[in-house]
Amino acid sequence: MRTAIDGLVLRELPSGENDKLLLILTAKEGKLWVTAKGGRSIKSKKSAICRPFTYGELEIYEKHGKLWLTGGSPNNSFFAYGVDVNGYALASYLTEICEEITGEGEEAELVLRATLNAFYAIEKKLFPLEQIKAAYEFFAATVSGFSPDLSLCSDCSASEKENGECFLDVMNGAILCSECAKARKATVSDTLTDIYETKSILMPLDSSALHALRYCAEAAPNRLFNFSITDEKSMKLFCKATEAYLLNHLERGFKTLNFYNSIKD
Ligand SMILES: [Zn+2]
Repeated sequence: MRTAIDGLVLRELPSGENDKLLLILTAKEGKLWVTAKGGRSIKSKKSAICRPFTYGELEIYEKHGKLWLTGGSPNNSFFAYGVDVNGYALASYLTEICEEITGEGEEAELVLRATLNAFYAIEKKLFPLEQIKAAYEFFAATVSGFSPDLSLCSDCSASEKENGECFLDVMNGAILCSECAKARKATVSDTLTDIYETKSILMPLDSSALHALRYCAEAAPNRLFNFSITDEKSMKLFCKATEAYLLNHLERGFKTLNFYNSIKD
């Protein structure tokens, strides 16, 4: 039976002589692998929907336990008219995160909405790329179940200090005030870290960076990037903290991230 499903093409792989295997992100069923017969032919009517970064309605049917694409119509082909190399590199990295945090057959509506919104923001240059990257990274960590408690210092329950200086305790998903961070650093030696395989990673924050983290932890996907950090130093702290937070919780690196970082200004 044929069905129509809205999806975002995350990746394409060649298959057979002239076919394409597409990885699609859908709201209700997460990731789906769909084969587009003849999808690599330039004459194919399916070619418009078979491109990465394309969101649209796909017509599919199931046969022999596999999904096949019969056609479809794109609603939005992101970056179809080009994007600068930094924007493309970021979109590729976000796609790889998206693929990592989404399961097959699992609901993924929030991830789909945040990813579409990120592509739109990159394409239209709505926010600085580093801000889109950091907000998406933190969203990806929280939506994957690594939501930190950003309210008070986890060791002494002190609320925010006047200068706002504090630390994100990455592996415990918590905030530490600067005094408690100092005390913690004094008790953790590298040897201990090795023996118990418990990493102590404290990322410095200031008041603006902490507020941005709090915003991203709560924001709806369509408002995820709608904040501003005016101070360059705060932006750097925020961006370093989100990258460390996501990579350490997912326990992996990303080639696309290495590329993005290698070319950024
Ligand atoms: Zn404290």
